[in-house]
Amino acid sequence: MDNFTNQLKAHAAASGADLIGIAGIDRFDGIPAEHHPASIMPEVRSVIVIGKRITRGALRGIEEGTQFDNYNLYGNVWLKYRILSLATFRTAEFIEDNGWEAIPAQDLPVEVPPMGIAVKPNQPAPNVTIDVEDAAVRAGLGEIGYCGMFLTPEFGPRQRLQLVLTSAELDSDPILEKNICTHCRDHVKFCPMGAISAEGEHIINICGKEMPVAAIDYQKCRECKNGMNLNSDYPAAKPERYGALCTRSCINYLEVEGRLTKTFRSQFRMREPWGIVNEIRALGSEDM
Ligand code: SF4
Repeated sequence: MDNFTNQLKAHAAASGADLIGIAGIDRFDGIPAEHHPASIMPEVRSVIVIGKRITRGALRGIEEGTQFDNYNLYGNVWLKYRILSLATFRTAEFIEDNGWEAIPAQDLPVEVPPMGIAVKPNQPAPNVTIDVEDAAVRAGLGEIGYCGMFLTPEFGPRQRLQLVLTSAELDSDPILEKNICTHCRDHVKFCPMGAISAEGEHIINICGKEMPVAAIDYQKCRECKNGMNLNSDYPAAKPERYGALCTRSCINYLEVEGRLTKTFRSQFRMREPWGIVNEIRALGSEDM
């Protein structure tokens, strides 16, 4: 690893990043222009993905079914827009202090359609959006799990991600070879709404890493009462599932199976999980 890449990673960690991965721009070959980093920055040489954990305790109130605001404050808004953004911005500052240009970029949902018109021929309409989870796989940070969530070896699905695009040529991290997810088809039961289906299973291939992923009915997720969070800023975006029963069950499974490197002195799931199919009928744990 070259010296500047080392210094950059140390600076990002000191700025509060829990995760940092780097992908050379060649790893984005084949991505459509409307989602390609070079559409935003034609001179981009490296894409840096920065992650901040969602503390496990921020999900405790949802897991118990009694306190959802802790997650909204410390798992959602604050971590996403403040704490993680500071690490992202300071990483971009460090790069610019060393003479290269750097764009700090949010994780804007790729499902959102263009908001303007193309200003030149053969150019995508603004806003170009980059799939941050796809980029994180390209940067070696993790994989897409069977339930469709991005997973890292450290935290499973418990992190948020942002990007820095830069003209600096940095050392790429290797694509993660090992699997975090066991791809167990039984995990469709993590959803009491039947939104996760093995029948529509498909393979996602990113830079040669093949990941089987179940079909997710996001329309059902939008109606979910089990800790899902609608993205009110972008109604076309997939709903946020970090606090939902499916993701909490995934966290518990990965921890119990010893598949994560960040460990705790107590198990995440201490009591039978609650689950709501609709506002009338609640499920028992045997259904999950
Ligand atoms: S968000 Fe709700 S409906 Fe969607 S997969 Fe998770 S538990 Fe099921």
